Amino acid sequence: MGTQGLAVRLRDVAVGYGSATVLRGLSLELERGEFAGVVGPSGSGKSTLLRLLTGRADEHGGVTEVLGHRVRRGRPPKGVGYVPQLEAIDWEFPVTVEQVVLLGDAAASAPVPWFSRAERRRARGYLDRLGLGGLHDVRIRELSGGQRQRMFLARALLRRCELLLLDEPTSGVDLATRGDVLRLLGELHHLGLTVLLTTHDLNFVAAHLPRVVCLNVEITADGAPRDVFTTDVLARTYHAPMRVLDDGERVVVVDAEPIRLHAGPDHLDPPTDRGRRAR
Ligand code: ADP
Ligand code: MG
Repeated sequence: MGTQGLAVRLRDVAVGYGSATVLRGLSLELERGEFAGVVGPSGSGKSTLLRLLTGRADEHGGVTEVLGHRVRRGRPPKGVGYVPQLEAIDWEFPVTVEQVVLLGDAAASAPVPWFSRAERRRARGYLDRLGLGGLHDVRIRELSGGQRQRMFLARALLRRCELLLLDEPTSGVDLATRGDVLRLLGELHHLGLTVLLTTHDLNFVAAHLPRVVCLNVEITADGAPRDVFTTDVLARTYHAPMRVLDDGERVVVVDAEPIRLHAGPDHLDPPTDRGRRAR
């Protein structure tokens, strides 16, 4: 694996869908071997940024380079693993775990998805390493959220990626699984992989990642979580007031005001959990 050069280089990039521009003025450099998170509210363009880096979005201007090569729509760059947002997948599609993992390789090289014994052995090796041993013939709809993430990781690793992009790997999995996913990403990063993930979870980023990029149409801030997570930056990124607690050891982002669960004596709704805050 080369250590020279940048994993990602964006120079004044604008990107969108059709004529609609979703992100603009993006300039970003990610060194090889970095581990960074992208945060921002829903619809701020996090998924679009990852799609741009995988050749799945329309560049409206600027230059996008990944692992030293210019990225163009419809030509996915080599060496990039992509774990899509779980919510974006049709889990009812009747394929097995092994087929998903192997198709990453075969789709490009063969017109008919027919796998050699060596390919299958390699795939099963990765599934074993990721704790999915024995599940290769299982239909993907049977998997839990954490297993779905790891299936896509196995697929990315089988393709020998150098840059791993993960869209919301902390969404739709429980806390223990979130820890497992993080430990696994930590190991891969330790082995030299560059990791860029998106997340809703500011405190996950603050606690675990060395670098965070805040996004809302433009990059609103970029740096270490302790430097980046300020009330000012968060207000600019989320258009909502938030409070930052820092005891010198940890940075935690909370709602600026406690959320009122009761609307007062005039409120006629029966005491259901309807008022509970959706997450
Ligand atoms: P995030 O991942 O931060 O929630 P997205 O990148 O998914 O944000 O979306 C950014 C904006 O682009 C949103 O306004 C969304 O409606 C729009 N958008 C996303 N995907 C498409 C698409 N396939 N076609 C048109 N507009 C899209
Ligand atoms: Mg998204």
